[in-house]
Amino acid sequence: MSSSDESLPGKVIWARRGFWARFTPEIERAFRRHYEDDLVQRARWSAVIAAAVMAVYSLLDVFMVEPDILPQFLWVRWLFMILPLLCVSSLSYTTWGARHLQKIAAVASVSSALAVVAMIVIARRNGTPIEYEGIILTTFYFYCCGGLRIRWSLLAGSVAAVSYPVAEYFAGLSAHDLAVRSLFLVSTNVVGLISAALMELAARRGFAQLIALETMSNSDPLTGLLNRRALDRRLPALWENARRNGENVQIAMIDVDYFKQYNDHYGHAGGDDVLRELGALLSDKSHNPQDLAARFGGEEFLCIWSTPPDQSAEARLEEILREVRELARLHEKSPLGRLSVSIGAIELRPDPLLAPDAAGALREADALLYRAKSQGRNQAVLSRARAPQARAEKGVFQTLSLGGN
Ligand code: GH3
Ligand code: MG
Ligand code: MG
Repeated sequence: MSSSDESLPGKVIWARRGFWARFTPEIERAFRRHYEDDLVQRARWSAVIAAAVMAVYSLLDVFMVEPDILPQFLWVRWLFMILPLLCVSSLSYTTWGARHLQKIAAVASVSSALAVVAMIVIARRNGTPIEYEGIILTTFYFYCCGGLRIRWSLLAGSVAAVSYPVAEYFAGLSAHDLAVRSLFLVSTNVVGLISAALMELAARRGFAQLIALETMSNSDPLTGLLNRRALDRRLPALWENARRNGENVQIAMIDVDYFKQYNDHYGHAGGDDVLRELGALLSDKSHNPQDLAARFGGEEFLCIWSTPPDQSAEARLEEILREVRELARLHEKSPLGRLSVSIGAIELRPDPLLAPDAAGALREADALLYRAKSQGRNQAVLSRARAPQARAEKGVFQTLSLGGN
């Protein structure tokens, strides 16, 4: 998720808790996107810093390494450590590189591990052994700083843990030293693995809190629908999407009739029940991913459906009016004697000539809602764009009233 992907449901998010925590599949995918964005930053900067440290080490090599093996040292350090690390950093700025950065950084890490092993072996073969701690330091880097997902750090760490003892064995290290160093190297991998897992767990907890906050800030607590804030943020993208896909957009503004009187007569708790019930009904009517149901404010709701051009909103609006009627909620202060709603709806193709933006379409739906109210409430007024060939003689929009019984 971009960290602000408000389309996440945010209810059931954990598939597994504890040390091996995992999210449910949809959230897990969003988390990976989010986490890998973070890792791109971490890999980019840690690679630059590691390359700089290696460059300083190569300067120290000039003073500390035997002259006969110095050229080999410098070649190995620059070609198999510094160059791959700089590639990680520079490729992270390209689209392709950022997408494949985990694999690229894994290759650079494996190359660095083998380079350290090669230098240790070169020095031992020359009879001027160097300290072996470099391989421990490199292994820690894989797990804690390199910006790698755990499986890639594990790969690089395992390459180091296997190649080092094998190489030292053939280079003639004593059995005792070989055993002790191998033990330290394996322990370093275990500690690194646990640290990496704990860091990922902390990232998961942070992500879960982010989702909880996003969900809270985007939903209406009473009905569970999207709130006005989320609506305003989503609308332009939804509009643009429908325009690109050549779909129609149907916008319905739904308002409870005589709701003030309902509250006055049945109390606010009763009014809240009505809003919850209506919210559930409208949410049920908007279950496709490209649909949207929101509480616009007070007792007004907004539904937006993106549909193929041949699918009219009529049936859906009549269904809403019928289902509200079937709720059969008494409303003694309404002339109907039961609860009803009025709807203003507009159906059109997002088109610069008909409706340049979503906000204009919303205003139009609002005006049609007032028309439904003034025509007696308990009805829908739908305005829809006519087919282009009929526009010349009949006008661009056709308005019809639906329901009302
Ligand atoms: P009309 O038929 O013209 O729509 O009239 P109305 O009474 O429904 O509209 P009006 O705007 O006069 O009143 C809206 C009422 O909605 C007033 C307010 O108390 C109530 N309301 C707004 N938000 C809430 C809420 O969250 N819960 C409850 N119970 N009532 C709310
Ligand atoms: Mg009302
Ligand atoms: Mg109102």
